[in-house]
Amino acid sequence: MVTSDRPLRVAIIGAGPAGFYTAEHLQKRTAGGVHVDMFDRLPTPYGLVRGGVAPDHQKIKSVTKIYDRIASHHDFRYFGGVEIGLDVAFSELAPLYDAVVVTIGAPNDRQMGIEGEDLPGSLSATDFVGWYNGHPDRRDLAVDLSVEHAVVVGNGNVAIDVARILVRDVNELKDTDIAQHALDALRESSVRSVTMLGRRGPAQAAFTPKELRELGELQGVTLVVDPDDLIGLDPAHAEDEDSRRVLEALHEVAGRTVTPGERQIMLRFLTSPVALTGSQHVEAVTVVRNELVTDGGVARAVATDDTSTLQAGLVLRAVGYRGQELPGLPFDGRRGVIPNDQGRVIDPRSGETVVGVYVAGWIKRGPQGVIGTNKQDAGETVGTLLEDFAAGRLFLSDADSTYVSRLVAERTPHVDWDGWKAIDQAEVAAGASSGRPRIKITDRDDMLRQARIAG
Ligand code: NAP
Repeated sequence: MVTSDRPLRVAIIGAGPAGFYTAEHLQKRTAGGVHVDMFDRLPTPYGLVRGGVAPDHQKIKSVTKIYDRIASHHDFRYFGGVEIGLDVAFSELAPLYDAVVVTIGAPNDRQMGIEGEDLPGSLSATDFVGWYNGHPDRRDLAVDLSVEHAVVVGNGNVAIDVARILVRDVNELKDTDIAQHALDALRESSVRSVTMLGRRGPAQAAFTPKELRELGELQGVTLVVDPDDLIGLDPAHAEDEDSRRVLEALHEVAGRTVTPGERQIMLRFLTSPVALTGSQHVEAVTVVRNELVTDGGVARAVATDDTSTLQAGLVLRAVGYRGQELPGLPFDGRRGVIPNDQGRVIDPRSGETVVGVYVAGWIKRGPQGVIGTNKQDAGETVGTLLEDFAAGRLFLSDADSTYVSRLVAERTPHVDWDGWKAIDQAEVAAGASSGRPRIKITDRDDMLRQARIAG
């Protein structure tokens, strides 16, 4: 346990799951002897729980109750709407604390690197997910749903989420917290079928059996798979329980009869896009058939010369998220993470520790794992931080805790926890009359206005 004549003072940058679990571990393991200031560039907290988790997975969002309890700690402050690296430089913030934990996630998308990727109608799933979840930066995304057929590239849970949202009966979305603009657009949608492309086989798919099964149970939607695509387990996945269950579920799907007239999701494996074509807008995807080659124990997709064309007016690439550099800190551009050793940030040029600076979550380990994975991950980081504190390796700050409030107030309007609660209440109240859990405020200025009205 940490003992000191004053609480340990820690800044957490990023109010997503990794940020909250970091705060929770600090509060528990210092027996409350910690002061936490949490910063987020958005006025609203919860990161991907608000902006990433699909609206038809409302149950998962109840985890915010735990985050609210963490935020109710007497020595916790929230600074929403403050971008560290833009409004306040990292070099200005760090000296005000004994330690800083960076939990900024992986907000960007990965690219496919193919011709035509930038044509209108080709979007990243990251943007599309932000759009239907009411992320302020993505609310104005041009999403054209006047097309009949869409292609989703990728075989992860995000690919499943976006494919499901595209074809799910809109009546099953109207009682969720999906952004109003997305609900309105989906109500008018012409999308009848979605083809999901996995570059490797079903056993190597990154999605989980539960998410796949949900796809097969959607009302009014037929899930289709070509039995020829259902190649077996490679040596690397022979013992993998998830791969076995995915294959089992797909064999069951392959045996089903297609119901005419239903919307459709077609799963295609061993298929990669090589170009998107169209004059003003995406019209088609050229794809190539792959074969699997095991190389160093890993099953890799290798293109054959068998190409074909799929008509599609909308292409969503769900090929993974990507971390973003925080100015003032080292960054591994290849992996999209801040280099670290068990959460302790390392400068790769010198190999030295950046004293007092830590990471947790996706910016630490890359964009993998579910919400709960961040709890254990944050636990490791907090263990490292407290070890350094106990060993006298931190520079203890003598800054007054009111200084940061003044600094932030000088730079940008921001939202404290009561301000967020006012936004929350306004959203919940707006949803009540139509039986929705909330109607999200999607504009930053409207959020700030709502927070001020209550203040
Ligand atoms: P992911 O799980 O890493 O999946 C990325 C997919 O993109 C993989 O199938 C990958 O194939 C494929 N891919 C990568 N580059 C490609 C390329 N150039 N061409 C074609 N395919 C390519 O990432 P994610 O779906 O973004 O999910 C991120 C994390 O969030 C995951 O841990 C996921 O489980 C989690 N998540 C969970 C839920 C849930 O629990 N319901 C929902 C959403 C997200 P290879 O395997 O061949 O590289």
